[in-house]
Amino acid sequence: MRIAVTGTPGTGKTTATEHLASKLGTDDAASSTADFDVIHLNTVLEEEGLYTEVDADRQSKVADLDALAEWLEGREDTIVESHLAHHFDADRVAVLRCAPEPLEKRLLERGETEAKAAENAESEALDVILAEAVEKHGLESVYEIDTTDRTPDAVAVELAAVVSGDREPSAGDVDFVGYLT
Ligand code: ADP
Repeated sequence: MRIAVTGTPGTGKTTATEHLASKLGTDDAASSTADFDVIHLNTVLEEEGLYTEVDADRQSKVADLDALAEWLEGREDTIVESHLAHHFDADRVAVLRCAPEPLEKRLLERGETEAKAAENAESEALDVILAEAVEKHGLESVYEIDTTDRTPDAVAVELAAVVSGDREPSAGDVDFVGYLT
């Protein structure tokens, strides 16, 4: 069983999955989650050098999706966290969401440039990652989680329910289009 945790940068994937890791196998997350490991795929990309080039303009590395897919192959019972996680095979895909304005604020506070924060806020308003996730995996495998007014711990509880199978799939309930007008 592989669970992807994806979403626009700043939606809180790293933070929420760190909280989730400490819950796995406890009453908070159901004992059925005990065997799961959290993989932070962006860390793997850095540590294993699984990128094709460095984009100097954007100050980012271009992921080698084939190499990452190969690295993930055969790893069972994993929770794969990254804004790229939905590009790979997965049994369930959790898509974290955050309203664009607080998302932009979170990214600026994290030290991202204004251009990058604005670009990600717009992408979130347009549901880009949700649409990609639904297109690749189908509505029956996607679990949208709004993090806007939730603590990382509350988001981790939602994620635990996705992992244990206690939550129904959902997509399209979160709507940020008003942000663009
Ligand atoms: P991602 O991994 O999706 O890029 P992070 O986990 O790095 O996002 O979180 C981005 C920023 O937002 C961090 O500064 C973090 O402290 C903050 N943050 C994360 N989750 C929440 C939340 N649920 N509510 C408010 N701020 C959050």
